[in-house]
Amino acid sequence: MKNTDFDKLEDMNFTFRKDAFRAKTMYCGKCDRKMKIVSVDFPVSKNIKVKLNMFKCSKGHEEMLNFEEAKKLDKALILNRIISNTAFGFKRKLSHDGDNYLFRLPSELTQGKKHSEITIIPLEKNEALIKW
Ligand SMILES: [Zn+2]
Repeated sequence: MKNTDFDKLEDMNFTFRKDAFRAKTMYCGKCDRKMKIVSVDFPVSKNIKVKLNMFKCSKGHEEMLNFEEAKKLDKALILNRIISNTAFGFKRKLSHDGDNYLFRLPSELTQGKKHSEITIIPLEKNEALIKW
C-alpha cells in the first residue's frame, strides 16, 4: 500500500509518550524543561491540513503530541486515505425496498455491540462516511 503521509510524519519527528493521554503539561525528555504549546497547521496531504496543538521544547530538543492531538492527526490520515482511495473497505450487497437502499453492517465492525442508528456523512454525490 502506497502511503507517503507516514514519510512526512517521520520528517516531523513527533514522539508520543504512554503517559501523555490528555496531558496539559509535558516536560522535555532531554532538558526536563516545561514544554510550550504551539499551534501548527500540519499538512497531511496537499488537500488536507490539520491544526495540531503540539508541545515543543524551547531549546528545540523535542516536539510531542498528547493522545487527543495524536487522535486528531490519526483521523486526518484516515480521511486522507479515504479521499485518495487507498483505504481498506467492505463490499456489501444493497437491497432495495422501493424507496431506500438497505445494507448490512458487518459484525466485524460493530464488535458485538448493539446499535440502533448510524450517522451518514456525505462526502461526494456517491461517497459517504458512516459512524455508529
Ligand atoms: Zn529540551
